[in-house]
Amino acid sequence: MTHLDFTRRGLLGGAAALSAAGSAGFARGAFAAAAPKLPARGNVVIRKAYVMTMEKDGDIKDGDVHVRDGVVVAVGQSLNAPGARTIDGRSMIVLPGFVETHWHMWNTLFRGMSGEKPDYSYFRTALLLGKLCTADDIYQGTRLATAEAINSGITFVHDWAHNIRSPDYARADLRALKESGLRARFSYGPQQGHDVKSPIDLPDLEKLRNDWAQYSNDGLIALGVAWRGHGGNLPANAVPENVWRAEYEAFQKLGLPISVHSSGSKAAIGQIAGLAKANMIDKVQVIHATYATAEEISAMKAAGTSVSFAPTSELRIGFGIPPVAAFIDAGVPIGLSVDTVELVGNADMFAIMKTTQGIVNGKAEDEFKVSARRILEFATIEGARSMGIDDKTGSLKPGKRADLMIVSTRAANLGVFGDPAVMLVTAAQPANVDTVMVDGRILKHGGKLTHLNVDRIAKEAGDASAALRKRANWNF
Ligand SMILES: [Zn+2]
Repeated sequence: MTHLDFTRRGLLGGAAALSAAGSAGFARGAFAAAAPKLPARGNVVIRKAYVMTMEKDGDIKDGDVHVRDGVVVAVGQSLNAPGARTIDGRSMIVLPGFVETHWHMWNTLFRGMSGEKPDYSYFRTALLLGKLCTADDIYQGTRLATAEAINSGITFVHDWAHNIRSPDYARADLRALKESGLRARFSYGPQQGHDVKSPIDLPDLEKLRNDWAQYSNDGLIALGVAWRGHGGNLPANAVPENVWRAEYEAFQKLGLPISVHSSGSKAAIGQIAGLAKANMIDKVQVIHATYATAEEISAMKAAGTSVSFAPTSELRIGFGIPPVAAFIDAGVPIGLSVDTVELVGNADMFAIMKTTQGIVNGKAEDEFKVSARRILEFATIEGARSMGIDDKTGSLKPGKRADLMIVSTRAANLGVFGDPAVMLVTAAQPANVDTVMVDGRILKHGGKLTHLNVDRIAKEAGDASAALRKRANWNF
């Protein structure tokens, strides 16, 4: 395969500069000084690949994709692309980058720490360790998550930040997103252990919105709210009506998109109906919805509400089996999500797609209930629609921003070129992702991240996680 030598040189130069600066020069907390430089948006053409546009015109065999200055210029065969650098797409599948729709990125520091006993349950671990997080821990957790996202072919993340212990925590999280170059929505939420009788920090949310130009990374990052709604998945977290009403009204006044965990667990049955009754369901994003009734699904469809399923999380924690087929039948926009690697271990959207198809077919006792291509839509164009960003991303179409990945089929787990959608949903893994482009910037190439130093990020996150557990006297 042909690789772009200019990105490799950029990587080596950046890595050398970082190590020359030395770890002593960048004490934890002084991370802003060490911010990596994002690669330039270039003029690139991918040639002779199998191109899955995820648009109505479908796939193009021996197809080219031309990208210039962050925009998809053209998609077709034998494109004229004067001055463009070429990526050889033979044996490669080009498709839109994955759109991830709900992820508590900060708690990546607790990867795999939801143990086998109630003392180490997901919620208890997130609460007890979350309370002791510093702002720098938030930065470290989210930064590690961004590296994993890029590595896995995810080009958009919905960062559901529910451990904002002071304004600094939100800024630390945003710094990690900005450095990554990912497209994102940052949803501002409560903190772990937030008093249910108090609203989230609404004055800080308003300040952030007013200063948003400083944080948006040239429009790549949008602001939203991570709403507790009526209390989420645990009865102990029930929020009094005066608080959820005040929060909702404030969010509406600020004009921010709202996302809420609702009807996820058996203990939270009826929450979607409660939101609908309070006229608070219009165009929000509902997460999990495992116990949504037929009436609630109809109400969501009528209100233009979208749903985010996190099947690997819903299964692992024992919430139950998400009713994906009922939402497909109703025509509610569906997105797929990682939720939290504390619980599910990794951010593998290929595995999430495969699990989603398994759930639908298994529940229906029907091998053909949902196709791999339909599942792939949830992870790309329909996920983008569910987040209200399908004008920018989610498919390969001239005029859209250039968010894409290239999957190499020259691998032990691929090799045979069958139905490409089936290959991607059932066989492919993050290791097969050769190249990732976000907004025209190449962030992964030749199987390696180009501007993020993964060794350094992993080591610093590991150190931060170990120090945090030591402070918590957490003997895992
Ligand atoms: Zn969640």
